[in-house]
Amino acid sequence: MLDATCLFCKIRDKQLPSHIIYEDTHTLAFLTIGPINPGHALIIPKKHTQDLHTADTETLQHLLPATQKVADAITKATNAEGITIGINNGKAGGQAVFHLHVHVMPRFTNDGYKHWEGKEASQEALKEIAEKIRKSF
Ligand code: ZN
Repeated sequence: MLDATCLFCKIRDKQLPSHIIYEDTHTLAFLTIGPINPGHALIIPKKHTQDLHTADTETLQHLLPATQKVADAITKATNAEGITIGINNGKAGGQAVFHLHVHVMPRFTNDGYKHWEGKEASQEALKEIAEKIRKSF
């Protein structure tokens, strides 16, 4: 599926400049222009896919092995002490470009990037939401 207005499809088609670090038949990885640390990369399926909800299984099957390869290379190149992997999904989830992408973020002790804060939840509240989720498959 093609989307002529999609920024990441344009990067895939080399219509926009980017710092591509990895490419195979199904995936492409390039550096984000707004890194949290040097080496922060995005991995996309070459097939235009809006988000995790709409991705087909085949697309997803190629994405994680490519993510592992890219994470290994970024770790080696940057001497990262850790890696954070993330998919922002939907506007409220922080997704800015609506072409599925995996963030691979090299991490260092005290790099200032904080883990999200958890909210307190009662056992009753956990039980209730767990029930709702189990019924949603
Ligand atoms: Zn796209």
